[in-house]
Amino acid sequence: MSDATPPAGFGRPDLTAFARLDGLGLSVTGQRLEPDRAVLACRVVEPDQWCRRCGSEGAARDTVIRRLAHEPLGWRPTVLEVVVRRYRCADCGHVWRQDTSAAAEPRAKLSRTGLRWALEGIVVAHLTVARVAEGLGVAWDTANNAVLAEGKRLLINDPTRFEGVKVIGVDEHVWRHTRRGDKYVTVIIDLTPVRDGAGPARLLDMVEGRSKAAFKTWLADRDDAFRDAVEVVAMDGFTGFKTAAAEEIPDAVTVMDPFHVVRLAGDALDRCRRRVQLAIHGHRGFRDDPLYKSRRTLHTGADLLTDKQSDRLRALFVDDAHVEVEATWVSTSA
Ligand SMILES: [Zn+2]
Repeated sequence: MSDATPPAGFGRPDLTAFARLDGLGLSVTGQRLEPDRAVLACRVVEPDQWCRRCGSEGAARDTVIRRLAHEPLGWRPTVLEVVVRRYRCADCGHVWRQDTSAAAEPRAKLSRTGLRWALEGIVVAHLTVARVAEGLGVAWDTANNAVLAEGKRLLINDPTRFEGVKVIGVDEHVWRHTRRGDKYVTVIIDLTPVRDGAGPARLLDMVEGRSKAAFKTWLADRDDAFRDAVEVVAMDGFTGFKTAAAEEIPDAVTVMDPFHVVRLAGDALDRCRRRVQLAIHGHRGFRDDPLYKSRRTLHTGADLLTDKQSDRLRALFVDDAHVEVEATWVSTSA
């Protein structure tokens, strides 16, 4: 046995698996180590030669490079240079690119793993956007936009959440302290289960700002069925919210109840945070998301979390005052 043979219990070195690219449908074909970043040349594993328009076989015409920021391995930015084939249909002339949706969202600049790393960094590890951007080797705006979109998708991804809502609460929260003053988010929660004694408050939405206009626009964007069903709007005392409710849903009763609403809104945020936590760790939360149904391999490792470990993570989240700001921040749209 040569000394290059891996010892028992080890496989051969495999950069594709090590960089967690097999779950993204990619395979590493080369590496280039630069002083401040690592570049991995990749190919797309699955061929994609059948014409999307007529079903005939296409011929590979040329290739294009898709660059993706991946999770930093050892905190060194890791960039994927994915060689993507372009095909042309022999029958109808249609031209298309090899499908890379397993690796990243369309037009995204971050790989799915890179995005997950960024979200986990901000929500769980409390990194700043600047630090996350540095880790990914991308511009601040790129990191910020990607994390906001993903956070919103994870936090508020239930299209049926507006159904059966009769009592809503509206409240303002500071989501970010800046040198030029604090920024606010308006949090809208469903208090129907609380009034009915059926369960806790649920988060319905969050919108940037804390003005009358923010809440009024949100109400105006709801459909008639929702607006007709709302009987009570509880709020934290800000008269702008009262005016917005009176103008948009005049039949609803407005109730000033600052501390109750504030506390319930905080509870709703807590639960959302736990959802993000679970989603990030792949323990729960993707089950009903069609996009992720086919991406199970990405998350298999985290399925191994025991209940005790999950509880510990949850406790960590609940106890941490900073996280509320971060999670709220993550969920506001860019
Ligand atoms: Zn065709």
